[in-house]
Amino acid sequence: MRVAVVGSGFAGSLVARVLAVQGHDVVLLERGTHPRFAIGESSTPLANLTLERLARRYSLDDCYDLAAHGRWVARFPELRRGLKRGFTFYRHHAGRPFVRDGSRTERLLVAASPSDHIADNHWLRADVDHHFVRAAVAAGVEYRDRTVVTADMLSTPASCSATSTACACSPMSCRDCRRAPIPTIGRRCTTL
Ligand SMILES: Cc1cc2nc3c(=O)[nH]c(=O)nc-3n(C[C@H](O)[C@H](O)[C@H](O)COP(=O)(O)OP(=O)(O)OC[C@H]3O[C@@H](n4cnc5c(N)ncnc54)[C@H](O)[C@@H]3O)c2cc1C
Repeated sequence: MRVAVVGSGFAGSLVARVLAVQGHDVVLLERGTHPRFAIGESSTPLANLTLERLARRYSLDDCYDLAAHGRWVARFPELRRGLKRGFTFYRHHAGRPFVRDGSRTERLLVAASPSDHIADNHWLRADVDHHFVRAAVAAGVEYRDRTVVTADMLSTPASCSATSTACACSPMSCRDCRRAPIPTIGRRCTTL
């Protein structure tokens, strides 16, 4: 099956790679370039269990090592990260100013292991997302960056065959609606 994945954050790169490992023909489309700044860096125990599960199910051994601080440092010292001790969520009641009254029912502490070897990590997303997109390319994914996918490209009229790999239109666009077939959108990135 020919699949287009839009966005190469870690979610897009991982799903593209898993599909490629399963034998699909995958193109990964990204509006920016890597490495790039991204927010949302603090992993959780559940996120790490998910990484370990992906590693086991699809033989993605790097995901196993990135799921715990000690394994990460030993295998990928060049990927920057921080040792996590925990973080706290505070309840915010809509329409009321936040008050920190010390009440335990108003906060949730998500603690990481006190053992450095198995503790969670703070990911430097620039490094980690870059790693995952390179791993996707190594697994056979075709990666195209500087490519903004718009709703217009995806809402193909029934008469248009531009998104089909069997498209009989000109290489760059459909003769009826002028849309480009997904496989020809953007430029293939070879400088990761
Ligand atoms: C303030 C804040 C703090 C957070 N803290 C945490 C945290 O501590 N821990 C945690 O687990 N999560 C946290 N999150 C959530 C976390 O940021 C997201 O869950 C995570 O980044 C989602 O990753 P992703 O790969 O799905 O998408 P993203 O990392 O957002 O990647 C999406 C990619 O798609 C590309 N893209 C988007 N639109 C298009 C388009 N039309 N065409 C082509 N490419 C496109 C973008 O350029 C980008 O590279 C936080 C979020 C915020 C806002």
